[in-house]
Amino acid sequence: MNQYIELAEKYSPNNYSPLNIVLTEGKGAHVKDSEGNIYIDCVSGFSVLNQGHAHPKIIQAFLEQSQKITMTSRALYSDNLGVWEEKICQLAHKDKVLPMNTGTEAVETAIKIATKWAQDVKGIDAFNAEIIAMEGNFHGRTIGSLSLSSNDQYKEGFGELAGNIKYSEFGNIESLKSNITSNTAAIILEPIQGEGGINIPPQNFIKNVKALCEEHNILLIADEIQVGLGRTGKLFAMEWEDIEPDVYLLGKALGGGLYPISAVIANDDIMQVLTPGTHGSTFGGNPLACAVSIAALDVLIEEKLPEQSRILGDKLLKGLKGIHSHIIKEVRGRGLFIGIELNKEAQDIVSEINAQGVLCKETQGNIIRLAPPLVIDEEDIDKIIEVIKQGIESH
Ligand code: PLP
Repeated sequence: MNQYIELAEKYSPNNYSPLNIVLTEGKGAHVKDSEGNIYIDCVSGFSVLNQGHAHPKIIQAFLEQSQKITMTSRALYSDNLGVWEEKICQLAHKDKVLPMNTGTEAVETAIKIATKWAQDVKGIDAFNAEIIAMEGNFHGRTIGSLSLSSNDQYKEGFGELAGNIKYSEFGNIESLKSNITSNTAAIILEPIQGEGGINIPPQNFIKNVKALCEEHNILLIADEIQVGLGRTGKLFAMEWEDIEPDVYLLGKALGGGLYPISAVIANDDIMQVLTPGTHGSTFGGNPLACAVSIAALDVLIEEKLPEQSRILGDKLLKGLKGIHSHIIKEVRGRGLFIGIELNKEAQDIVSEINAQGVLCKETQGNIIRLAPPLVIDEEDIDKIIEVIKQGIESH
């Protein structure tokens, strides 16, 4: 076994099942392993690397800021917090943003805000406030976000979890309606489910959810941690239905592949439920995170990466749909966010594809997820199609 794997396995708990590949370098859409093999990276740290590996502008921002000041804590101001806040609020058309560090923390924050909003604004006892989540969701692994999971396997053995959570079938508006009560505080959804298997809801589902939220004065929380920031061919995946949620959650690519930063974005009427002492994070919004995130957002916009994702995603989807094989159940996706659902376990095929220089991993056992950096070029898209075609046709 590779020495790096051996060492990591010796000291890592057993909560992951990584591919037996050790990455040592990354540039743009490509990564190199410890044996010198080059791959097209279709994992992208699960949509963290929308801007590509080691983007020079983001690296530059990191280096410059790290020589000025890296940390203040929120006990003080920094000279770039407001700059970052303004940028992200303008992109999301919202009044306020609360920076955190990881995706799951953004979700935790949203649960707190929604619960307090239900109490302060709707007059629901916070202990009775209900949140509706979608079946097949993935919102993170800490106690609050894990509580939203409909997957009992993820929750088993972890004792009592948080909140009054109800589950609706993703894409089924009637199922959602039947869960709404006078205690409903919020509905949380991924506009397209990632871990769940690149599940795209039927047309108008999101629109109908928004209408329900307005009718019943319920917050709509869009978890765009995986699908936001250009991944699906729009800056926000909610734009596919021209809907603005009440609360956006961002993470992953918000840090340009370099630094963890996440965000909860909403208007004043919602954010005002937070008062001094009710929430916070030592590292949230630190100057280094802000500098990196400003550069990451600039790169997304200046390089028109959402558009690039749409154009190249269409090409990739078309190419993959052109593969005819009895083992393919469905190929679906938006932008450079594509799932190939097989009617068998995907692991062997994934290994073969990896060996041919396209890095990808399965989700839900039988779905190959493809999410390359949005800076990928057409030549690499052609190669991905060719390699996957060969990998699938040989089975
Ligand atoms: N929400 C979604 C939709 C995700 O895909 C993820 C991670 O994959 C998370 C939340 C949790 O993010 P993190 O792993 O940064 O805590």
